[in-house]
Amino acid sequence: MAIPDSKKVLIAGASIAGPTLAFWLAKYGFTVTVVERSKTLRLGGQNIDVNGPAKQIAQKMRIEAAIRAANTGEVGLQLIGQNEQAIASFPKEGSISGTQELEILRGDLVNILYEATKQNVEYRFGDSITNLEQHPNEVTVTFSSGKKETFQLVVAADGVRSSTRRLVFGDEPKFEYLGLYTAYLTIPRIKTDTNWWRWYTATDRRIVMLRPDNQGTMRASVAFLESDEAYEKLSLAEQKSVLKSKLVGAGWEADRISNALDDSVDVYFDKIGQIKAPSWSSGRMAMIGDAAYCPTPLTGKGTTLAMVGAYLLAGELSQHERHQDAFVAYEQRMRPYVEEVQKLPPGVPWLVYPRTRFGVSVLNTVAGIIASKPVQKLFSLFTSTKTEDESKAEGIVLPDYVYTHAAESS
Ligand SMILES: Cc1cc2nc3c(=O)[nH]c(=O)nc-3n(C[C@H](O)[C@H](O)[C@H](O)COP(=O)(O)OP(=O)(O)OC[C@H]3O[C@@H](n4cnc5c(N)ncnc54)[C@H](O)[C@@H]3O)c2cc1C
Repeated sequence: MAIPDSKKVLIAGASIAGPTLAFWLAKYGFTVTVVERSKTLRLGGQNIDVNGPAKQIAQKMRIEAAIRAANTGEVGLQLIGQNEQAIASFPKEGSISGTQELEILRGDLVNILYEATKQNVEYRFGDSITNLEQHPNEVTVTFSSGKKETFQLVVAADGVRSSTRRLVFGDEPKFEYLGLYTAYLTIPRIKTDTNWWRWYTATDRRIVMLRPDNQGTMRASVAFLESDEAYEKLSLAEQKSVLKSKLVGAGWEADRISNALDDSVDVYFDKIGQIKAPSWSSGRMAMIGDAAYCPTPLTGKGTTLAMVGAYLLAGELSQHERHQDAFVAYEQRMRPYVEEVQKLPPGVPWLVYPRTRFGVSVLNTVAGIIASKPVQKLFSLFTSTKTEDESKAEGIVLPDYVYTHAAESS
């Protein structure tokens, strides 16, 4: 067997996609370096779920038990009405629920992936790629630290705003703004908090949510529609001030979140949009995760796509001697799935962000009907036949790759 041309791999981004790719590549015998711009792991963010194909990959990685142990304890989703009381409940075990079996804080998952890889992968924090020169057999990488080094392959896993992607593809991949801004922050837990994910729709196209975590605090989020991409490059203080202005008069727990903003150290505030790229590779460089195909939190599938893309790219690289063939195979397997996930139901997000009190009350009435026992029962008729293979049910195949050439040549 010939020696593959893709032995030494550099990955940009140590979140979900990057370390998952690193795990599998290291397992297949590649030499892997992960460069992360931040000085430490970025552990912020909210509850995410690891289900379907992501759960299967977690099982293959033997990290399912660690994910289970870090469960947030969320018991289901509750909609809060204009009277500030729960008006519809979707328990975790019900036929329709936003809460999944494996709910975990994003930061906990990042940590688990890091712990599972740090022995076999070199992590470099506080650095990033500033230049890439592709040659026939290698890529010369310049880092912001000034260091220069050659690798056989470079993979961008540095998120929706990936600067590594820009170095290679320029402005060709499109960021499709969905007319929505979202902010996440951690706030102190108080006696009246519960273990429900509580979702409150306010007037003027605003949503406020509170979710429990496993750390004795609460994860708050604030989302609002904004037709223009109005808030670019704001300082943290400016972001807080925009959020405070958006929370005025919203009702329910909005004032509490507004007050908590003053002391918050982990506000994550960004516009929401999907990345659509005509190709996920160029020469010796490829992309995975949000950098390549961010679906947005509206789909609930950001983590799933990141883990599936990483698994497939590593697997294909282990099977093909030429990286070009691996990149083609990865894209062929992954693109139909990404396209399906990125399709949003008609009217989303506009329909769920009403402007008037009347609009809010119509939405809440519909939600109440859906949460009612007869409708839940009806839904369970269609959803209770759980298939053995959750990935197939989602239309993605996860081959059991048996690595071949990479390990032989190490
Ligand atoms: C701090 C944070 C909080 C988040 N919170 C939520 C949330 O609450 N809910 C939700 O659904 N999604 C959240 N996300 C997004 C979610 O993690 C992704 O949608 C999904 O998991 C796919 O992950 P990813 O690894 O592709 O990208 P991301 O999770 O976005 O990770 C990208 C990583 O690359 C690093 N990076 C950025 N630029 C560079 C560079 N030039 N060089 C090297 N490294 C770089 C970033 O610091 C980050 O660690 C959050 C992301 C971040 C970074």
